[in-house]
Amino acid sequence: MSEPYPHLLAPLDLGFTTLPNRVLMGSMHTGLEDGRKHFPAMAAYFAERARGGAALMVTGGFAPNIEGWTKPLAGTLSTSGAARRHRVVTDAVHAEGGRIALQILHTGRYGYHPFCVAPSRIKSPITPFAPRELSARGIERQIRAFVRCATLAREAGYDGVEVMGSEGYFINQFLVTHTNQRTDEWGGPYENRMRLPVEIVTRVREAVGRDFIVIYRLSMLDLIPDGSSWPEAVALAKAVTHAGATIINTGIGWHEARIPTIATSVPRGAFAWVTKRMREELRGAGITIPLVTSNRINTPEVGEQVLADGCADMVSLARPLLADPDFVAKARAGRAQDINTCIACNQACLDHAFKNELATCLVNPRAARETVLVIRAAAQRLRYAVVGAGPAGLAAATTLAERGHEVHLFEGAAQIGGQFNMARRIPGKEEFSETLRYFARRIEATGVKLHLGTRVTADRLVADKFDGVLLATGVVPRDPRIPGQDSPNVLSYVDVLLHGKPVGERVAIVGAGGIGFDVAEFLVTPPGHSPTLDLKEWLAEWGVADPVQVRGGVVRPRPSPPARKVTLLQRKAGKLGKGLGKTTGWIHRAALLMKNVEMIGGVNYERITPEGLFVTYGEQRKDGQLIECDTVVLCAGQEPLRELQAPLLAAGVPVHLIGGADEAAELDAKRAIDQGTRLAALLGSTEQFVDRRAA
Ligand code: FAD
Ligand code: NAP
Ligand code: SF4
Repeated sequence: MSEPYPHLLAPLDLGFTTLPNRVLMGSMHTGLEDGRKHFPAMAAYFAERARGGAALMVTGGFAPNIEGWTKPLAGTLSTSGAARRHRVVTDAVHAEGGRIALQILHTGRYGYHPFCVAPSRIKSPITPFAPRELSARGIERQIRAFVRCATLAREAGYDGVEVMGSEGYFINQFLVTHTNQRTDEWGGPYENRMRLPVEIVTRVREAVGRDFIVIYRLSMLDLIPDGSSWPEAVALAKAVTHAGATIINTGIGWHEARIPTIATSVPRGAFAWVTKRMREELRGAGITIPLVTSNRINTPEVGEQVLADGCADMVSLARPLLADPDFVAKARAGRAQDINTCIACNQACLDHAFKNELATCLVNPRAARETVLVIRAAAQRLRYAVVGAGPAGLAAATTLAERGHEVHLFEGAAQIGGQFNMARRIPGKEEFSETLRYFARRIEATGVKLHLGTRVTADRLVADKFDGVLLATGVVPRDPRIPGQDSPNVLSYVDVLLHGKPVGERVAIVGAGGIGFDVAEFLVTPPGHSPTLDLKEWLAEWGVADPVQVRGGVVRPRPSPPARKVTLLQRKAGKLGKGLGKTTGWIHRAALLMKNVEMIGGVNYERITPEGLFVTYGEQRKDGQLIECDTVVLCAGQEPLRELQAPLLAAGVPVHLIGGADEAAELDAKRAIDQGTRLAALLGSTEQFVDRRAA
């Protein structure tokens, strides 16, 4: 049989070593770097991904010194003692036949601590600390720290290092005048500004020898107004190649850029064209260094396509390998449909990292928990009923069945997925369908007996004498009890998203949680359309320009006109969308503002009339205002649905509540899948069940 992905799975010869395929696991900060007590967990995490076939993996960032810390006491590699502690990681990876490089990350002015340093004393908009401006001797100390860190990485058994030169971190800060206003030999003309990365790569190469991988992560598109020009980026790529880099990886966008680069609404492979252009420049100059492209490459098909199109020599996947450590092995075995696809939600990975929590993955709660969340074969085969095939029920049913239990999954609807069937209809959330495809395959593979279109009753569950019942019945929309809400001009989000009920030209949305925002996005977008599926339109909407023509690659956004006039409301005073994802909330807000959505907080809902929604403000309920609209859509939160619990308990059936059925407040798919998986990993091994068949 021919290889299913000939470009993706082709070996790559680096001269002194050959990588088995073109998949680089990109650096992803999990928090396991920030404390030696996590190193055994980090070893298991990378070993699992080495076993799954990633050609080369890059660790989360390690600072070369204190000044380079991400935050106080962040993972640092600056002593031989520290290097020895990394052995557990490199040995575990090598035992699986894998390769791993350590990322050297100096955050410069992005450091969240008072010791941060930078070329000039210019505070970043995303951190509260103004950096100390480095003297020339100070710069020399930073270079030495990079070199020492690379040498120690080699001593620790790593196969290489990645010098982090993008995303607006320390090295990047030297490259542009936005952050480098020096007048000495490290500032001014571009050859001075790029001296730092060239010096670092040259001296790292001298120190580590020829047979050690040195990846340089180069910012090809800064996405900030006065970022690097294209000729500057090309000059740097040539210079770091000459200085001894083995591979150039692509960086897209500074952290302070106001353009999304990896969120789920970013089209797949959205920035591969940038690497392609760089590759053409370098090949045109006779430079054959392998280039890695990155951002939103989450399936083998996309990876294969960008490589076949000549965009790059390798693809970088970071979050997709959190979601499925066996990505490459499944692709190689022709089982791409079995891959648990990263939906780019950021909810359990990046959002955790930014909240100082250990990262994991919404669709794979075992990610970075490999040593504690272990799915073991059950000691005895028991019979379980899982009621509800939303994320919680799907995770629980397939995990129980994987462990060897007999599982019956009952779903009232005609298809699996629960609320994900609404989420996946939101423009920009198309990826959510992948999770349902994955679970459909898991149901088949694990032998779960699926009963669709079966709104199961307590009587039936009692009669079937299950050893346990898991109630994953989800939620019902909360009733906001607004006078007039029974009129025909009022719909719930379920009517709009699931049942496709007609919605007027002017809409007021009651409730501005995640669902209110999503419904607004749905309503301002023409039916059946999504900029996420149209790269050209998406780039124009967010103002991404060709860097060859515009320095930094940013121009004025050109959003397409909204399909409706939408007003989004909440009772709380203050900014709407505060509770949205840490790293994605700003994108949802910006997207709606571009579509002229009016956002109003601090309202009281007085009544709904044929003319619209009448609201007042403040405790005095004064200053009434009619929000004129044709349709009011209720998105006022949710309540648990657990009507089966009491009769089952009364009949003596062991019952477990998971997902929304357990707790609707602050419910999301991350909690639902995590809770379902964890419970199913334990059931039957720690609990005494009444054997009802024997009774
Ligand atoms: P549900 O998904 O509600 O599933 C419950 C299932 O039980 C349903 O399929 C129902 O038909 C079935 N059921 C109920 N009673 C019975 C019965 N008696 N017999 C048989 N079947 C029964 N979360 C995120 O994390 N990120 C997001 O970006 C996100 N976006 C969303 C966008 C929208 C528009 C919506 C509506 C939700 C979104 N969510 C998101 C929330 C997420 O979908 C829910 O948190 C998650 O689906 C809850 O999972 P669950 O399994 O507990 O319940
Ligand atoms: P939610 O986030 O709890 O928001 C409910 C909204 O309704 C709030 O704006 C709330 O604001 C309002 N509200 C609450 N009680 C009300 C009442 N009695 N009358 C009128 N308004 C009321 O819930 P949701 O939007 O329904 O989302 C459900 C879950 O899905 C959430 O927990 C969310 O995490 C998840 N989800 C996540 C995403 C995501 O992108 N991560 C997207 C969609 C959904 P006021 O009380 O101020 O009016
Ligand atoms: Fe991907 Fe979401 Fe998992 Fe992060 S949490 S790896 S974005 S699916």
